[in-house]
Amino acid sequence: MANSLQGRVAVIFGLANKRSIAWAIAQKLHAEGAQIAITYQNERLRQDAEEMINSLPGANGFQCDVTKDEEITRVFQQIGETYNGKIHTLVHSVAFAPADELKNDFLLTSREGFRIAHDISVYSLIALARAAEPLMTDGGSIITLTFYGAEKVMLGYNVMGVAKAALEATVRYLAASLGPKGIRVNAISAGPIKTLAARGIGSLGEIFKFVSERAPLKRNVDPSEVGETAAFLAGPGASGITGEVIHVDCGYHVMGF
Ligand code: NAD
Repeated sequence: MANSLQGRVAVIFGLANKRSIAWAIAQKLHAEGAQIAITYQNERLRQDAEEMINSLPGANGFQCDVTKDEEITRVFQQIGETYNGKIHTLVHSVAFAPADELKNDFLLTSREGFRIAHDISVYSLIALARAAEPLMTDGGSIITLTFYGAEKVMLGYNVMGVAKAALEATVRYLAASLGPKGIRVNAISAGPIKTLAARGIGSLGEIFKFVSERAPLKRNVDPSEVGETAAFLAGPGASGITGEVIHVDCGYHVMGF
């Protein structure tokens, strides 16, 4: 369905570089006709991010660290001013855990590492949804990114797996909270993709091989396929879907042995 997002505004959080899932989603939503606002975390990422954003006609870039309430307030004020007070889609493609928490045995998870992982990877969805809600006056679609490590133990995923489980529960609670306003909230559980965030997980090469051998489709997922699903969730075809976790993982999660 081409141009299914014509006239809609999508705000996407989580652009670090061309490999970012946020970038694949931004490109697809743009191709479907949406106006795109993309945020990046900090000054360090600004130049590269702005160059990429400028390559998407009409897209605008904004800076926002999701651990800072004042930056969230400011960025939604700027977005409201830029898009006449109305947005339709919010994409949350943000996660972080300190490196030691992924390297050490899970039993050694620190209080501070747990806090940081949950603050950046889970609480930020609630904070962004709350800030976006007043701009979603025609209803809307909120989409976050999760991983199968929320459901099953993945060695080396550790506290991120616990954070993703909390994120998936957050999707359901937000769906109930925002549903009466016509705002849908869903998660895409993506298969492993070679990005900056994924590099923090040890033995990435082995994981890719393992998945391509065992997934029903006998391959790993392409980021563009996550973009396609995000476009579906943002669009009219998903109008009856909320509180859902959709696996875009070449079917890996259905396999036992
Ligand atoms: P990525 O590194 O490109 O994206 C992660 C983004 O989070 C970066 O842009 C980073 O700047 C941002 N971020 C971290 N801390 C932040 C903060 N304080 N404020 C604002 N932004 C912050 O990696 P990615 O793989 O594209 O990750 C995007 C999402 O997809 C994450 O939620 C990740 O867990 C999820 N995911 C990734 C995979 C995978 O295999 N790559 C699989 C399933 C789900």
